[in-house]
Amino acid sequence: EQTLSNKAELIELDKKHFLHPTSSIQAQQKTGAPLVFTEGNGIYLKDMEGDMYIDGMSSLWNVNIGHGRKELAEVAAEQMNKLAFSSTFSGFSHEPAIRLAKKLADLAPGNLNVSFFTSGGSEANDSAIKLVRHYWKVKGFPERKKVITRKRGYHGVSMGSTSATGIPEFHAMTTSLAPDFLYAPTPYIVEGEFTEEDLMKAAQEVRKMIESEGPETIAAFMAEPIQGAGGIIVPPEKYFEEIRNICDEYGVLFIADEVITGFGRTGKMFGLEHWDVVPDVMTIAKGISSGYVPLGAVMINDEIHRELIKYSKGTLFHGFTYSGHPVGCAVALKNIELIEEERLIENAAEMGQELEKGLKYLEEKHWSVGRVRNVGLLGAFELLADRDKNTRFDATQGVAGKVVQECLKRNLIVRSVTYEGTDIIAIAPPLSITKEEIKDIISIFDDAVSAVETTLK
Ligand code: PMP
Repeated sequence: EQTLSNKAELIELDKKHFLHPTSSIQAQQKTGAPLVFTEGNGIYLKDMEGDMYIDGMSSLWNVNIGHGRKELAEVAAEQMNKLAFSSTFSGFSHEPAIRLAKKLADLAPGNLNVSFFTSGGSEANDSAIKLVRHYWKVKGFPERKKVITRKRGYHGVSMGSTSATGIPEFHAMTTSLAPDFLYAPTPYIVEGEFTEEDLMKAAQEVRKMIESEGPETIAAFMAEPIQGAGGIIVPPEKYFEEIRNICDEYGVLFIADEVITGFGRTGKMFGLEHWDVVPDVMTIAKGISSGYVPLGAVMINDEIHRELIKYSKGTLFHGFTYSGHPVGCAVALKNIELIEEERLIENAAEMGQELEKGLKYLEEKHWSVGRVRNVGLLGAFELLADRDKNTRFDATQGVAGKVVQECLKRNLIVRSVTYEGTDIIAIAPPLSITKEEIKDIISIFDDAVSAVETTLK
């Protein structure tokens, strides 16, 4: 345990020297100072005071396997001792990257058989966009360069992926976005009553967009199977089937961003499997290594691979120093092995049902709780002024932020999503969670919502 002066020093140094990545939780936390964690175990994190927190967000939807898995640390050390040669540039290769690429080909749907490695999700999405544009170019269709993404979609913060992101708040730090991105509506209606049919219109808007822009100018449609940062937006049953049909009709490539939904989060290996739809390109990160090491990948199908190889003459002017880092790949392989051995995907599906029961209980008990939803262990509920009419609290009330704070006071870390005036609370615990631990989370939500409700109306 840290000494008192050491703790104060760490907090002061953090404030002075550490520019934190975007975070809504930091600003809302109970102490007003950075919360400094020292250890993790399962769904729990321990801070400098020795207090235990439930990590209801799996760090940032990434620690799928849970915290403190020594097996991953051991594999990392072993690999680092053997070979930490950090580049698969120029045809140099090594076994961990080769084995991981093969494993991913076995796991991925359809003929997504080839992986290009990156250090994370933003790089994977930037790479996906460049690879599909290059694919069209080498096939003789350089005009196919526009990428349709969706409002409330989140794809990262590098210039390409931030431009692909359909949340205006994430555009605030740049004066100009990358060209050739279009933002289609997403199947979510912020306020007022609506039907499934109204939600399905979002798919038809994609068709209209392709038609009005001209299909010969569209390279790809890119979407998260379930929007994460945008607020756990689960599409209607037929949405992705319709999207796949539209893409096929116009020859548009479909890129699935499985950065959050991959590796068991939703109770299946990949999120799109819930709708039996196969994308042409898939990006993955986070759960691939359960966040123990930075790693991501773009997976492309055999046909795209063939074309890229045929015309690139062995040179792809794209690659990162850490593309396929052996330590990252070795840890990812072990992580996937443990996810399979311990049946964590099956557990995510089962515990997802427990989470669903818990969320429904909250909805029954609390007048302000509505629109509860989850797919496996990716869940959410909303705070609504009038849930029958689907009306919002005034954004200045900061209701979701208050709930996050009340949870944090009770040592549960969750996240709010407040774009366009929503008050969404997201929950995504590690896949190793038990029934008892789900109950603990629901009981904290229960108390936190009660505490906030007394201040409302
Ligand atoms: N895509 C999605 C769906 C994400 O949720 C994220 C990260 N939250 C990213 C891409 C970007 O990944 P990274 O932060 O590893 O760059």
